[in-house]
Amino acid sequence: MAVPKRHVSKTRRDKRRGSSWTLEAPAIVKCAHCGSYTAPHKVCASCGWYDGKQVVATEED
Ligand SMILES: [Zn+2]
Repeated sequence: MAVPKRHVSKTRRDKRRGSSWTLEAPAIVKCAHCGSYTAPHKVCASCGWYDGKQVVATEED
């Protein structure tokens, strides 16, 4: 919305910019195979499982 610069006070301008970001917890899910926490829609970093299958070979298996 085009508004002349001087018509928007510093408070209104800074409130608008300050509200554009929020703190939220990072998305995390528990691995169905090994139970460690991992990012959703990613292969588990500790056991290499994804979607009920071993998709990445790991040393210990
Ligand atoms: Zn796992």
